[in-house]
Amino acid sequence: MDLFAHPYASFLAEVNKPGRYIGAEHGAIKKDWDSVEARVCLAFPDVYDIGMSHLGYRILYNLLNADSRILAERCYTPYVDMLAKLEERGLPIASLESVRALREFDMVGFSLQFELTYTNVLLMIDRGGIPLRAADRGEEDPLVVAGGPVATHAEAVAPFFDAILVGDGEEAAKEMVLSWMAGKKAGKTRRERLEDLAQLTGVYVPSLYGTEVDPDTGFHVVSRPTELDHQGRLPPFPIERRLVPDLNEYPFPDTFPVGGPEAIFDRMSIEVARGCTEGCRFCQAGMIYRPVRERDPKDVVDTVLRALEKSGQDEVSLTALSTADVSCISPLIKRLVEKTAPERVSLSVASLRAYGLAEELLDDMRKVRASGLTFAPEAGTQRMRDVINKNVTEEQLLQTAERVFSRGFDKMKLYFILGLPTETDEDVLGIAQVGQNALNVGRRVGKRPNVTVSVSVHVPKPHTPFQWCKMDDLEEVQRKQGMLRAALRGKKGITLRLHDSTTSELEGVLARGDRRIADVVESAYRSGAHFDSWDDHYKAQAWDDAFAEHGIERAPFLDTLPLSARLPWDHLDIGLEDGFLAREYKKALSSRLSPPCGKARGMFIHHTNTVDAAADERKLVCYDCGIACDLGRMRSERLRFLGEMGATDRAQRAVLPVLNTPPPTAPVAPPLDVTMPPAAAAPASPPPDVTMLDEPLDDEPLDDASIDDQLALAAEDPAGLAGAATPSPQKSPAAPTRARRPEFYRPPRPGSAPVRLRLAFEKTGPSALIGHLDLIRELPRVVRRAGVRTAYTEGFHPKPDMSFGPALALGLVSLDEYVDIKLIDPPPAAELIECLNRASSGGLRFHGAVWLGPNDPGIAKIINRADYLLGVPEAELGPDPEALLRKRLAAYEARPDVGVWRDVKGIKRLIDVRAGVTTLTLAGDEAVPSVRRAGVVGRLRWLAATVPISPSGAVRSREIVEALFERADVPHLGIRVALRGGEWSPLDLGRHQKVAAPSVLKQVVVDEGVAFESAPLEISPA
Ligand code: SF4
Repeated sequence: MDLFAHPYASFLAEVNKPGRYIGAEHGAIKKDWDSVEARVCLAFPDVYDIGMSHLGYRILYNLLNADSRILAERCYTPYVDMLAKLEERGLPIASLESVRALREFDMVGFSLQFELTYTNVLLMIDRGGIPLRAADRGEEDPLVVAGGPVATHAEAVAPFFDAILVGDGEEAAKEMVLSWMAGKKAGKTRRERLEDLAQLTGVYVPSLYGTEVDPDTGFHVVSRPTELDHQGRLPPFPIERRLVPDLNEYPFPDTFPVGGPEAIFDRMSIEVARGCTEGCRFCQAGMIYRPVRERDPKDVVDTVLRALEKSGQDEVSLTALSTADVSCISPLIKRLVEKTAPERVSLSVASLRAYGLAEELLDDMRKVRASGLTFAPEAGTQRMRDVINKNVTEEQLLQTAERVFSRGFDKMKLYFILGLPTETDEDVLGIAQVGQNALNVGRRVGKRPNVTVSVSVHVPKPHTPFQWCKMDDLEEVQRKQGMLRAALRGKKGITLRLHDSTTSELEGVLARGDRRIADVVESAYRSGAHFDSWDDHYKAQAWDDAFAEHGIERAPFLDTLPLSARLPWDHLDIGLEDGFLAREYKKALSSRLSPPCGKARGMFIHHTNTVDAAADERKLVCYDCGIACDLGRMRSERLRFLGEMGATDRAQRAVLPVLNTPPPTAPVAPPLDVTMPPAAAAPASPPPDVTMLDEPLDDEPLDDASIDDQLALAAEDPAGLAGAATPSPQKSPAAPTRARRPEFYRPPRPGSAPVRLRLAFEKTGPSALIGHLDLIRELPRVVRRAGVRTAYTEGFHPKPDMSFGPALALGLVSLDEYVDIKLIDPPPAAELIECLNRASSGGLRFHGAVWLGPNDPGIAKIINRADYLLGVPEAELGPDPEALLRKRLAAYEARPDVGVWRDVKGIKRLIDVRAGVTTLTLAGDEAVPSVRRAGVVGRLRWLAATVPISPSGAVRSREIVEALFERADVPHLGIRVALRGGEWSPLDLGRHQKVAAPSVLKQVVVDEGVAFESAPLEISPA
């Protein structure tokens, strides 16, 4: 869509990250609205940056669009600044791709990831033009559906949904939309279509089910329906969740829109497995996604390679609830690294554990760019960890800390949960003690260690063994948080992070709430509640008032629930056998562990080669949870996957994990106040069970992801690494060792030496709304998508080797931008530009290229001037626009100095516009071609300005308009027409060389038969 034809065009540049709303990314799917049978809007109840990282959403977007009968578009919650703009103008919330209001779709599907997004769901339904409650929707209104993990217990918002999909969406989403449309075509009423949907496995239609009061709790629980539907059927009861037994029937998508504002996890992520075997008793995902289903590793590798090619991304993340428990994770990583490391693709592995693979990877982790690692012991004492079924001892955790800090990491983040069932003050203080003990280990073996103790609040979630447990009330949580603050006050080297207790309590009520809570949610929304999970937007008073208005107490929903009670989510059968959760609950109360299932007893990690796997004939652990795993198939599938990855002999085991043994070092002094056995006497098994989480530490990129480099070493020198696997008596305890520079570990890149080029490009249309930082991320991706190899910088953080011209203000169109970039074996210039333009979208277009020689200064040293056209709407200028502009220009010229204030992060700076603008005049006809090329339409009067650019910056176009009109609110549109070095284009190399000498790189150009040698190639705009 042309940016200037976009319904939001007049105010897009006034909101933060306008690229969130325009759907102009590369890979966005735009189908013809009128040529499909069904139109689906995938709605994510949070901002673009969060929703774009969600994998389930990616799966459905591709899966639905793959069907020629269906169109699927995206919609995220507009952030508050955009919400205000839409409200001012009476505009509805609309999809990204076709900017259609939600009410125009046949189906709107919400992904429920978190209870605190409920008010955002209401906001999107309401402001999307759809009646809020299902009961109020008419025949033509869209079908409003919920899915995602929270859909397994969404009774608190059930009245707002026509249908709730429980379980996997791969098959069911399409079935639902097609059934809905078929019913419409057949002339069925809305009610009849809903009755048809209810017959699909996994689909809960709340309006077909009544509620009754449970005598034990007073909760309103869903009752068995007795009314026959239009075909004489009863709606199913309970509603069985939908399960895709074999994920490989639904290959993970290798494409998704890229090039918009940065998402929180801005990389190619792929789900390698669904489900988890660990059985942590507080973890809902570990219960509702059973059984573990692994994707074929060969497909994973193929998908990753295709996705990298299509997206141009250079970072891959393998994700699963517990990636280390994926049976072939070691050979899978090895295979991926072999394929991707030479091209400097970074690999991250989410939720690794510090045992098994992660433990061994840790040995060399410091050789890559991570400065810290994150672990999740969850509880502060052994008793508490036994209660929650976290199979880890403090000794094991501290051994891990020793390995972390002794390898030069200086930061460690530990995640804990406060308010777990049976928690005592001793358990609370245990959290502080674990943090302190980890720090002591760090001080003993590391340099300036820092430990972050991050503490969230336990919310007992439905469908877990803790679903009956009392949640600590606000006062108690705050008392315990106070204990932690006091225990760690003044402790240098420890940072305490506490989760907001108020929103946790609300989350607890919404999670265990019954249908009555829907009234509360609606009232809170109508009082302005939205973005409840965002600290700065949470409106406690709106919620307090809403609970009071409906006379509903929160306490009963947070109290201990009797095992005999019927619960508001009991009608949704997620596959667990009735007694399983209760058995686990009772085991928890007696601090009894349930070791991981699906593995041989005593095994904490899977065998990493077919020899060991085939030789192990022990039975796999199973607790008969009701899921009825096919353990025989599980075993044979694992063998097959290992075989596919070539992990067929024991040597494989050694190759990957231990990449390089540190040199022997002298033992260090024992810990100060840490009780732990000397490392040499440490038990060989079980290994530590702490979780490494793939997320940033203290706002610094964690880069545990960046095992690429060390793994690249494995690819480079596997034989040497295999030898390093033999444990060395001197190896532990290890003193800090000097980390080798990572480039030593990276495989050399094939191809010729990189050549330096200068590319000229324009940013028109939607790309004008991509900020400079996002452009820096996107441009190398364009180059990779074009099939051209970028050179990377050396050092701990290799980056594409490129430098840009001066940054462009957001919203400004530019016809003349530059980047100097190093490429490996690029094609001839004309072909290069053609390839780049094929890989670009959204108005990013390349139009010039020149090879640079050693005497050619970089772009930043050349550019010292920018030419702008500034368009002001005639409507702003009164009946005689030209006369007004001339009057303004004369007044501007007459003033000795013209200052405007610039706000730099809250600090005001006076900018002298007169001194910072060389010329400012009315533009004549010569501006017309540029205005046309920029795609600007409408009645505007244009001014031409020339602005000098110095190392300290330049006057901005907005400031020129403000200085001219002596007002900051005059709307205008800016076009950067040219960047120049003096009078000359940066492509005109002869004008900028310090020493006139023939460029070595000219030969490259000549060899490739390009006629212009070092002269610029200009391609006229389309
Ligand atoms: S059936 Fe057995 S192996 Fe499968 S998830 Fe349940 S307990 Fe684990």
